[in-house]
Amino acid sequence: MTEVIDGKRVAEDVVSKVKALTSELSAKGATKPGLAVVIVGEDPASQVYVASKSRTAKECGFHSLQHTLPADTTEEQLLKIIGDLNADPSIHGILVQLPLPGHIDAGKVIQTIAPEKDVDGFHFINVGKLGTGELETAFVPCTPAGSMLLIERVRGKDLSGLNAVVVGRSNIVGKPMANLLLAANCTVTIAHSRTKDLPALARTADILVAAVGRPEMVKGDWVKPGATVIDVGINRIPAPEKGEGKSRLVGDVAYAEAAKNAGAITPVPGGVGPMTIAMLMANTVASAYLAAGLKRPSF
Ligand code: NAP
Repeated sequence: MTEVIDGKRVAEDVVSKVKALTSELSAKGATKPGLAVVIVGEDPASQVYVASKSRTAKECGFHSLQHTLPADTTEEQLLKIIGDLNADPSIHGILVQLPLPGHIDAGKVIQTIAPEKDVDGFHFINVGKLGTGELETAFVPCTPAGSMLLIERVRGKDLSGLNAVVVGRSNIVGKPMANLLLAANCTVTIAHSRTKDLPALARTADILVAAVGRPEMVKGDWVKPGATVIDVGINRIPAPEKGEGKSRLVGDVAYAEAAKNAGAITPVPGGVGPMTIAMLMANTVASAYLAAGLKRPSF
């Protein structure tokens, strides 16, 4: 029987734990976790994400702050806001919603966030900590961190002896995912658009992670029998069967075929997707514990 990994349920568990940790922090007399979300411009998808992050932060009992800035905000103005948030002791996590308008250097903005408040895990300090295995103090990007939690639910924390193949080498998903799997003792291969014979490589994977952005690219016969398949992809495709102009979400994995071979698999939607915001909350509460001089909670 193939296990369908219920990301929605695991995400709810994470958020419940964050709520409990927030209450414990207040009981200890420490400042409650503060998350600042900054959005520049009117991209509708970004606005939906930001609203959802702010709502979950409130649900968790956080001090939730949102800066909604016009599209013509200058880089200097944005850097000044980040500087102020860096200095504000009531803020433990700063998130700048990407993409930023073209006239702003996103890299410069991200590197201006204080590493100890970089709950997205994109600052070079956090990237370096993950790359060198300093996981106790690193902030790890939320989507791979959430994917890792799903893998642990199926396979446990020590993945010694298992082969992992990560398809995709982005800084946001593929590379940090590979580093997390390596830290858990997997033998890791990172594949990308120039990889030769990807189907054969994918079939060597006990853990197969797809983070590509191509609808249903990973076919059923790419999946080793019993493998754990984590589908990070979120792709909207036309769904004429639902009516004219309708669409539906699919992952990077051809789910129905792949589920026949997989031991465990994440669906889309309802797999990795819900984990991203949950891990943002987990990183923010962890930052508040560290700021209060307390032991970092684990998830
Ligand atoms: P990205 O930056 O576009 O990276 C895609 C990667 O896939 C690149 O490394 C690219 O290789 C590789 N690739 C493209 N075509 C390929 C092919 N035919 N064969 C093998 N590799 C191929 O994307 P991303 O930001 O990592 O996101 C990947 C997917 O995850 C997207 O669907 C995105 O929507 C989704 N996502 C979901 C969440 C979530 O919350 N669940 C969060 C982030 C992203 P090259 O480097 O050689 O170009």
